Amino acid sequence: MMHWSMRRQSSWVQLAGHQGNFQLSDSGEVLKLYNEVEAKCLDSLMRDPLRPFVPQYHGLVTRGEQRYIRLEDLLSGLRRPVIMDCKMGVRTYQEEELIKARIKAPLRSDMYQKMVKVDPSAPSAEEHAQKAVTKWRYLQWRDTTSSTSTLGFRIEGVMMEDGSVQRDFRKILSLTQVTEALLYFTRSQLEILVVTLHFSCFRKHVIGSSLLFVHDHTSKANVWMIDFGKTTPVPETGELLHNVPWAEGNREDGYLIGLTSLITSLAKNPLK
Ligand code: ATP
Ligand code: MG
Ligand code: MG
Repeated sequence: MMHWSMRRQSSWVQLAGHQGNFQLSDSGEVLKLYNEVEAKCLDSLMRDPLRPFVPQYHGLVTRGEQRYIRLEDLLSGLRRPVIMDCKMGVRTYQEEELIKARIKAPLRSDMYQKMVKVDPSAPSAEEHAQKAVTKWRYLQWRDTTSSTSTLGFRIEGVMMEDGSVQRDFRKILSLTQVTEALLYFTRSQLEILVVTLHFSCFRKHVIGSSLLFVHDHTSKANVWMIDFGKTTPVPETGELLHNVPWAEGNREDGYLIGLTSLITSLAKNPLK
């Protein structure tokens, strides 16, 4: 499957998220639909040791009716880049979302459709009959059938240098070698990221955030932290470890579990 959301001199491609959330802008920037939670994260990250791992944030801009976050275009200037989006953490929904979905559980046919597309046998007989699932059921299914809940990360999408895009994670497994090669080049950056996280003042529940791996022939491979739409502050009184399993109520995100899984998989790299 090939899907270019937009084209121009930068080889812009969007591997995850709603296709309508992004707009291209001039001078090496992309515009992402405004979200207060994400804007706050980016603002504090610009004053944090993690800044070199994050696309530069240039504040807000209004286009028509919509407000947007101005971000450095991480693909600007690259030729035929190879890109991979890894969504980090042992869960990709906030505890609040789960609680809300349990109290108010409308049946969602769109989520049923997405589920059937990946695995026609996933819905129960009842769900098949009503052609819908609850959001709660969908969120949990998505995390437990991918590597999210076991490894602490899942591959959302990969773009190869020929421009072909793969978003079905089961098919991505067949691209293991490419992925391994890509990870091999970025291993040292991941290790530096682990060290930098220790010095960071970014005290958040990091939910649904990705590491975006990018490289092309001309420049060094790079790994970027993106997508902070569900990344909320840890209260002053609380402390998160980020490296222990999630049990509902403990608020843990498993970010470091994912990072450790990624680094461990590199240690087994046959290219080494
Ligand atoms: P999600 O459904 O994961 O919450 P989202 O709408 O919050 O998605 P992001 O995950 O931030 O959107 O971005 C979606 C995709 O857009 C990424 O996978 C990546 O391919 C591309 N992208 C995002 N930010 C940048 C950037 N600064 N430069 C280049 N590409 C980007
Ligand atoms: Mg994302
Ligand atoms: Mg997001």
